[in-house]
Amino acid sequence: MNKKVALITGGNRGIGAATAKLLAHRGYQIAISYRQRKQQAEELIVELRSFGVLAIAVRADISSEKDIVQLFNTVDEQLGPISCLVNNAAIIKPQMRVETMDAERINEILRTNITGTLLCCREAIKRMSIKNGGTGGTIVNISSAASRSGSPNEYIDYAASKGAVDTLTIGLSQEVADEGIRVNGVRPGFIYTEMHADGGEADRIERVKSAIPLKRGGRAEEVAKAVAWLLGDESTFTTGSFIDVAGGK
Ligand code: NDP
Repeated sequence: MNKKVALITGGNRGIGAATAKLLAHRGYQIAISYRQRKQQAEELIVELRSFGVLAIAVRADISSEKDIVQLFNTVDEQLGPISCLVNNAAIIKPQMRVETMDAERINEILRTNITGTLLCCREAIKRMSIKNGGTGGTIVNISSAASRSGSPNEYIDYAASKGAVDTLTIGLSQEVADEGIRVNGVRPGFIYTEMHADGGEADRIERVKSAIPLKRGGRAEEVAKAVAWLLGDESTFTTGSFIDVAGGK
C-alpha cells in the first residue's frame, strides 16, 4: 500500500472529489476538507475507505487561518504528516463587470483563493521540508485557464486570483526546491461541476463549448489524472510547471 498521506482541500465534490477517488484508488491515505456539505463529505469518505485506505473529512473554511491550522493539526493526529497537498478549494461569485463589483466580494474571493492557498502551502512546508525534519513532498495548486483569459465580463476578480495562484506556484517552487518539495499547478478549462451555478450560469459550458477546440467541456476525472501525475513519482523532475487541462483553449 502507498503510505503517502494526501490532503485535498474542497475535496467533497467536483474536481477535488474526483482527485480524492483517484488517489485512494492508487493507495494514498486521504484527508479531504469541506466548507459546509458535511453529508456529502461523509458519503465520499465511505467510498474512499472501500479502496482499503484510511480517509477522513475535516470541516475547514479555507478563508480562515484558524481553521487551516486546525485542519493540518487534525490530519497530523489522525493520519500523520502529509506528503501531498492539493490546493483545490476556491470560490467564484455571480458574473458581473468590474464596474459593479464591491470590495466585500473581491476580498472574499482573494481571501479564499489566494490567502487560503498560501496559508495551506505554509502549513504543508512546515511539515514536508527536509530543513524542518520532514521527508519532502509535493504540492499541486489548482489554478484555472481564467488566469490566462482574464474572464472579461464574467469574473475578473476570480481570474486575477488564479493569476496569483500561478505566480505563487512559480515562486514557491523555487523557494523550496532544495528542501525536497515540488510545487506545480493545474489549469482546468471548462469542467462540468457545480461551480458554474455559483457563477450564476449552470449551463455556461453549453454556451461556450463551440469555442473550445475539442468542442466539449471536460470531466473532473480528466483533471484528477493531471493532478495525480504531478503529485506522484512519474514527475520527479517537474517543478514550477503547469498542465493545462482545457481542451486546447
Ligand atoms: P466546486 O464548486 O464544484 O467545489 C468547490 C469545493 O471547494 C467544494 O468542495 C467546496 O466545499 C470547497 N470550498 C469552497 N469554498 C471554500 C472555503 N471557503 N473553504 C473550504 N472549502 C471551500 O468546484 P470545482 O470542483 O469546479 O473547482 C475545483 C477547483 O478547480 C477550484 O480551484 C476552481 O477554481 C478550479 N477550476 C474549476 C473549473 C471548472 O470549470 N469547474 C475551471 C477552472 C478551474 P463545500 O461543498 O462544502 O461548499
